Amino acid sequence: MKICRSIAEMRAQMAAFRNADHSVGLVTTMGALHAGHMALVKSAVQAHSRVVATIFVNPTQFGDPSDLDNYPRTEEADLTMLRDAGVAAVFIPDAGDMYPDGDETIVETTGLANMLHGLVRPGHFRGVATVVTKLFNIVQADAAYFGEKDFQQLAVIRRLVRDLHMPIQIVGVPTVREADGLAMSSRNVRLTAPDRAAAIVLNQALSRAEMLAAEGAQVDILNQAIRDTITAEPRATLMAVDIVIADTFEPATGPVTQTIGIMISAQFGAGDNQVLLIDQREIHP
Ligand code: AMP
Repeated sequence: MKICRSIAEMRAQMAAFRNADHSVGLVTTMGALHAGHMALVKSAVQAHSRVVATIFVNPTQFGDPSDLDNYPRTEEADLTMLRDAGVAAVFIPDAGDMYPDGDETIVETTGLANMLHGLVRPGHFRGVATVVTKLFNIVQADAAYFGEKDFQQLAVIRRLVRDLHMPIQIVGVPTVREADGLAMSSRNVRLTAPDRAAAIVLNQALSRAEMLAAEGAQVDILNQAIRDTITAEPRATLMAVDIVIADTFEPATGPVTQTIGIMISAQFGAGDNQVLLIDQREIHP
């Protein structure tokens, strides 16, 4: 597995893959890898003769500097997991190379970035769209794999690729969960033991909404049930519940007659132990 720490090395490696007629899949991550990331890698390895993974804790998508400082970094373990999974090259750039002096260009899906979950994390999706554009331009893969857990992020990326005519296919991969239902996240290791136990409330709220939908309940009933479930857990502070029509990202209302996407975010802990978790579920009519 080739480790590229500069843009030039990554481009040279891609040129070698292209010269050998390889199809290339890309998995972008912020490291601290877990089975959720590895599900993306597995999908990519099945579909492409070469897979490139990136590890970059992107400063521009963090609102709170302490969240950026406290983000877990486990490079050695990450590299072992990627090597074992059959990844051909890893790109680990410097923030200074990704954002050169005088960098002033941003990429923003102006509507999608600033609605729903974007409202509780101002600037977050702009940071994501900008760094993903840079990574796509550097790696120039055939396809890129993203988790459905970050449901709005996946929608932002699909839209920017469509709007900017980027020649890359975007593939969504279902959310991987712990045995008790908590969606895997690099942030989970930062939860205290009682917060870790309480965090299953996100998945429980989604399951409750799914059951109600199956019984024919309207979207506002699902929304209220999610709010009630999360606010009943004293360790959780509910940040946002958004229920959208999955295809269009328009707000969903009334009975569930089309596939909807439910997105939840909640905060656990306080001070340096504060951890923001998100979860998602698609519900079909
Ligand atoms: P991150 O390192 O958190 O930026 O995540 C990198 C990629 O892994 C994103 O496309 C995420 O949506 C995806 N991902 C993170 N957690 C999971 C999970 N539990 N299941 C599936 N994909 C995930």
